[in-house]
Order: sequence, then C-alpha cells, then structure tokens
Amino acid sequence: MDNKISRTKPQIFDVQDLVRPNVKKMKPYSSARDEFKEIGANMVFIDANENPFETGLNRYPDPHQRELKQLISNIKKFPESQILLGNGSDEVLDLLFRAFCEPKQDNIIILPPTYGMYKVLAELNDVQYKSVLLTDDFQLKVSRILDTADEFSKLLFICSPNNPSGNCFKKNDIEDLLQNFKGIVVIDEAYVDFTGEDSWIQRLNEFPNLVVCQTLSKAYGLAGIRLGMCFASEDIINILKKIKPPYNVNQLTQQKAKEIIGENNVGEDIQLILKGRKKLLEDLDQINFVRKIYPTDANFVLVKVDDANKRYVQLVESGVVVRNRSNQELCDNCLRLTVGTPDENEKLINKLKELL
Ligand SMILES: *Cc1c(COP(=O)(O)O)cnc(C)c1O
Repeated sequence: MDNKISRTKPQIFDVQDLVRPNVKKMKPYSSARDEFKEIGANMVFIDANENPFETGLNRYPDPHQRELKQLISNIKKFPESQILLGNGSDEVLDLLFRAFCEPKQDNIIILPPTYGMYKVLAELNDVQYKSVLLTDDFQLKVSRILDTADEFSKLLFICSPNNPSGNCFKKNDIEDLLQNFKGIVVIDEAYVDFTGEDSWIQRLNEFPNLVVCQTLSKAYGLAGIRLGMCFASEDIINILKKIKPPYNVNQLTQQKAKEIIGENNVGEDIQLILKGRKKLLEDLDQINFVRKIYPTDANFVLVKVDDANKRYVQLVESGVVVRNRSNQELCDNCLRLTVGTPDENEKLINKLKELL
C-alpha cells in the first residue's frame, strides 16, 4: 500500500484485528443457565447438578448478572450491552490480557510509577511489558509512549487518577494517546469517584479502542465482595464475555452490590472522605519532616518525607500502617497515606507530630 495514503487516510479500527487467533476461533462454554434461562414458577430445574435443597445459595448465580448490570447501567447512564462485570477489576484486567495478548509475542505498555497489577498480569500471561516513566510531576510523556509502541503493543494502561501519585492525567494527553495508539487504551478509573472530572465512559462512543475499568472496591466501600466493572464498545465486551468464566461473579457479591448500589448513598461517604482529605493535607503541611505533598484527586495522598524507611517503621511501631512506596520509580522517600475516618486521620497526625 502507498505509505502516503495510509498515513493521511483515517485509520479504521477493527478490534477483531487485535484478538488472539485462539480466542477468535473458540466457542464459549455454554452453561446450563445459558441453555435454559426462563424462570417459571412451576419449572423443575434438574439440569445443572445442583443440590435441590434450599440453602439460599444452592443454585448457580446468573452468569450474566442481569439485575446488577441493569442497576449499574442506570446509575452510569450507559447501555448494559457495553458492560462486563468481573471478580474485581483485577479479573477484568486479566481477561484483557487473555483476549488480546499472545504470550511471547505481544507486549503491553505501562507508565510507572503505577498500579502494580498490570506488570504482575503481564508476567503471569508471559507477555512482555514496556515501561515509559511519567514526568517528574507525574504526567504522561505522550510522544515517548507512542515511540515505544510497536505493531505488537496491544494494551496501554493509563491509571487516572494514578495510584500511587494520586493525580489525574491531562485530558489532552489522554486524547492524543487514544487517537494515536494502535492497540487498546485501558483507562483504570478505580478512583474516579473522588475526582471532579467526568469519567471517560462519556467518551466511549468516540474512541472504539477505549476500555474503562471501575470498581466497587474504593468509593463504594465494597473491597470485600470483589466487583470490577468494565465499560467498552459492544465488540470488545462481546469478546470478553466469550472468555470469562461463566459464574465469575458469585451470588453473594451480586446481592450485596445490588443492595448497596440500590441504597444510593455512596455520595455521603465520598463527601466525608474529601473533607477528611482536605484537613489531612492541611495538617500534613505542618509536619516538619514532610518535604512534599503531591496533589491528589484520589482518597489517598503521596508525601515525600526525609527518610521513608525510618518513618514507615516508626509509624508501624506506633500502630499506624501506611504504604511505603519509596522503592517505586520517581517515589524516593515517599509514603502513600489513605484517607481514613476523621479519628484515624487525627491519630496519624498526632503520631507524626510525636516522631523525631
Ligand atoms: C485498588 C485498585 C483497583 C481495584 O481493583 P479491584 O480488583 O476491583 O479491587 C484497580 N486499579 C487500581 C489502580 C487500584 O488502585
């Protein structure tokens, strides 16, 4: 093909070009509940080898989580057919690897310092990862990222707000990457509920190569039930649906998630956490060995101290456990502090004041 033409012609993105050949070929496991799903009052279900005696949990859960998805679809104002739920976002991320990354051939791009699971999942799936450091103020090096990408770069992980730095990335930079990266751009929005910014879910129809991940583990206070949410084009969601374990979201998780989302008062928790964060930032500013407080859009704050290892041990000895991030790139002598209850924040500050 003439190079000039291919450069000026708008790229047509077809996600099928990125799918692993074995995934493209396979047929999904068809569960008993897939083959027969209408629930009639007088139906006898002896098709799934379940124990017939009622425990409240003796039946397999809905493999498609219809009721829960409906609720999520309503609050996110986003079609059900473009949502996939997983056993935490960690499962959703793993499914992306399995769908798109051919072991020993493809690669992914991560942007350290960032969430550790991307790298762990790359290693687990035998997929090479290429790292492009963030700038010193934790923003994206857009052209460096695009230069690093090659024809085998299938996934680019953008965590915004970023863990552990806490900040959101510039919108224009993310747009640039969405427009120019040839693989799939995964925006991990685990902390989006703490920002004033719009979710990238709103822009999904503009970018066929965009996948947005969210979770009930942070703002929703449900880390224990493991529920991750993936929003993308119907094409991408259908691929992930095909390869997900049929009953990946268990009955207790579906029930609890419906209950909490239905109550719809997560906003109150978020307001309290944001208020706590504001006070925590002011108080941290008064601690003499705190060298830098990084701007945060999340429910945690990264601080640079004089000696992170020493302060970490001192804090543990006084009964406060923080995350020592000083071994991560660009995070020399940094501790990551989660915003706790007002009492917990006060305890942290009092302990910090006592340290020499
Ligand atoms: C906490 C966190 C998650 C949460 O994942 P779950 O498996 O849904 O609990 C995902 N991404 C980032 C960046 C996180 O910090």
